[in-house]
Amino acid sequence: MQNKTIKQLISIGTELLKNSSDSAKLDAQVLLGFVLNKAITYLHTWPDKLLAEASTFQYNELVQRRLSGEPISYITGMKEFWSLPFFCNPATLIPRPDTEILVEHVLIYGQSFGNEKLKCLDLGTGTGAIALSLASEMPHWIIDAVDFNNDAVALANKNAKNLDLTTVEIYQSDWFFQVSSNKSFDIIVSNPPYIDDQDIHLKQGDVRFEPLSALVAENNGLADIANIIVQAKSYLSDGGALFLEHGYKQSDKVKEIFIANGYIEAMTIKDYGGNDRVTWAKFNKDKSH
Ligand code: GLN
Repeated sequence: MQNKTIKQLISIGTELLKNSSDSAKLDAQVLLGFVLNKAITYLHTWPDKLLAEASTFQYNELVQRRLSGEPISYITGMKEFWSLPFFCNPATLIPRPDTEILVEHVLIYGQSFGNEKLKCLDLGTGTGAIALSLASEMPHWIIDAVDFNNDAVALANKNAKNLDLTTVEIYQSDWFFQVSSNKSFDIIVSNPPYIDDQDIHLKQGDVRFEPLSALVAENNGLADIANIIVQAKSYLSDGGALFLEHGYKQSDKVKEIFIANGYIEAMTIKDYGGNDRVTWAKFNKDKSH
C-alpha cells in the first residue's frame, strides 16, 4: 500500500461514505482525527502530511465500519454534549444535541432558586449526559441519576469520573424502583424511550445500532412517559417540577397526562429544529386532591 497524505485520505473516505452518510466529509475527518489522536484543525493545518501505513490501514477499517452504518460515536467511543466529552457505547443512546434544550430549561428554572441546594433526579441517565451537564453548571445541587441497565450505570460513572464531577450519585434502578421512598426531589428530569415500535425511523441511520430499550415504548411511545408522570408524584417535593423529553408529535398527549395527574403550569419547549421536544409541569401536593 502506497503512503497517502491526510488530504488524500479525507477525499477517499468522503467519496466512499457519500452515499451512506449525509455528513460524509465530516465523518471522514472525525475518523482520521481519531486514528491520529488529533483535532480536526490538525488535519486542516497539515493536509500534505504523509501518513504511516498502519494509520491508513486503521482508518480504512473505520471507514468500512461507518459504511456499514455504525454510528460515528460508537466507533470513536465519544460524543460531545453540553460542550463536555462523554464516553459512549452500545449499552446506551448516543446523546442528542436536542436534549441540550432540556438541560438549558432545567437550568433556567433552577436559577431562580439561587444558591439553594436543589435535589434533582435523572431517570434513565444512559451516558449520564443530562445529570452530569447539570452538575457541571450547578455544583451545589444534589443529583441522583439512575438507569435500569448496569452497563449504562458503569458508563455514566466512568463519565462522572472522567469529568471530575463528584456531586452525582449514579445507581441501578428501573425508573423509581430503587430510589429510596424517603427521598424527595425539587426537579425530576428524564429522556425516556418514546418511539412507537412501528416507527420507520427505527430502521434508518444511527438508531439501528442503539438499544431498542432506550428508544421504544409501548402505547404509541407514551407508556414510560405516563409511568414516570404517575410515579413522580410520590417523589417530587411540594411544587417540584418534572421535565420530560418526548417525540415531536407527543406534546398534546404528554400535557394531557400531566393535567390528568394533577400537575399544573404544563409547558412545552421546542428543540433547535423547531419541533416540540420537552414538556414540563409542576406538582403541588396540597392542591392535587
Ligand atoms: N430523539 C431520539 C430519536 O429520535 C430518541 C430519543 C428517545 O427515545 N429518548 O432518535
